[in-house]
Amino acid sequence: MKIDPSLLERRTHALGPAYRLFYDKPLHLVRGAGARVWDVDGKEYLDAYNNVPSVGHCHPKVVEALSKQAATLNTHTRYLHETVVDFAEQLLGYFPQALSQVMFTCTGSEANDLALRVARSVTGSTGVIVTENAYHGVTSVLAEMSPSLGSANSIGADVRVVAAPDTYRLGNEGAQDALVEGVKAAITDLEDAGFGVAALICDTVFASDGIFVDPPGLLQGAVAAVQAAGGLFIADEVQSGLARPGTHMWAFERHNVVPDMVTLGKPMGAGHPIAALVSKPELLEHFGNSTRYFNTFAGNPVSAAVGQAVLNVIVDEDLMGNALRVGNQLRELLDDQLSKHAHIGDVRGSGLYAAVELVKDRETKEPWPEGIQQLLNLLRENGVLAGSCGRFGNCLKIRPPLCFSAQDAVMFVQTLDRTLSKL
Ligand code: PMP
Repeated sequence: MKIDPSLLERRTHALGPAYRLFYDKPLHLVRGAGARVWDVDGKEYLDAYNNVPSVGHCHPKVVEALSKQAATLNTHTRYLHETVVDFAEQLLGYFPQALSQVMFTCTGSEANDLALRVARSVTGSTGVIVTENAYHGVTSVLAEMSPSLGSANSIGADVRVVAAPDTYRLGNEGAQDALVEGVKAAITDLEDAGFGVAALICDTVFASDGIFVDPPGLLQGAVAAVQAAGGLFIADEVQSGLARPGTHMWAFERHNVVPDMVTLGKPMGAGHPIAALVSKPELLEHFGNSTRYFNTFAGNPVSAAVGQAVLNVIVDEDLMGNALRVGNQLRELLDDQLSKHAHIGDVRGSGLYAAVELVKDRETKEPWPEGIQQLLNLLRENGVLAGSCGRFGNCLKIRPPLCFSAQDAVMFVQTLDRTLSKL
């Protein structure tokens, strides 16, 4: 690919260095459609990574809804607007009855930040429990509960970190038990330190921890322990939700729990910045009595029109069904690779969210993060985009737009097979 050195140089000068680029040779994309993107030289890539363009890159129905509302009116939530209320009602229709109110934000971070404010205000406690390699957002309070930002990032005094349920190493039952034990110990510790427990917050597929979706019910014990201690359960569905699990609209539903609050983001606007906090109304009533909340851009009519268009496309194109069918097929094809490539330790996932864990040795399960970095660069050379995750950074993260087809799954696994053979 022609790398435009001047663009890279200009970027380096103009943008702060905390922004990281993917790939040894940065990728310069200029166009997208469905599950495909094209670079500046016209080379086509299969996108098996991006969940933000949830219903496919530049979906015409989403673009149309956005343009139409942008050409009509865009204001904010302080005026009455039908589309905003329609969207709120439509979205809430996908939640258990107990979760019957929504507050819009622009980003997943804002949704998590608001959820924490509500949790701390309602419980009167400040303690928060997160998993070992969790990521929950960019605000200072969320960075303090995002261990995946690295060892230089400090974790809050009232934050306790528990091991994620590593079913590959501990087995389903072992992982579930370890999670409950970890959460109970964290509760005791927070109480002893005088913080009390405001919330357990989990990405409900544990994406940055390495994607652990099974067994169904995995979260039940941990959630029950937190609620029994007076804390709240916040399901962070910013990555995991919106039809991607295939079996359900939201990943928490796989575990048969009703969260106190659910946070949403990334895929909601298929690229437009829409996010939300969905909550039990009594919590928001308590919060609303003590303060007001206005988020200038959040829930504006253009965002609401886009959000509605995304929900409509998910239904009209049966993208949840697609996630289930293609996701199952994808994992079957990946399972077949286990017999061919000794470095594949485990394949897991639900719907169109899958992890392939690379190990140096299947016996010891020693992680192979170097392999993942080589693999990602080579996959890209071969026209496929994927990502990495996991506390050891050794899992291939497969999280394509929801329109990923059966043929795309075959192409992905064939390319992976060829690429792994070269490592
Ligand atoms: N929670 C999770 C699980 C996320 O993956 C992310 C973003 N990667 C966030 C919260 C933060 O969302 P945003 O980047 O929209 O602020």
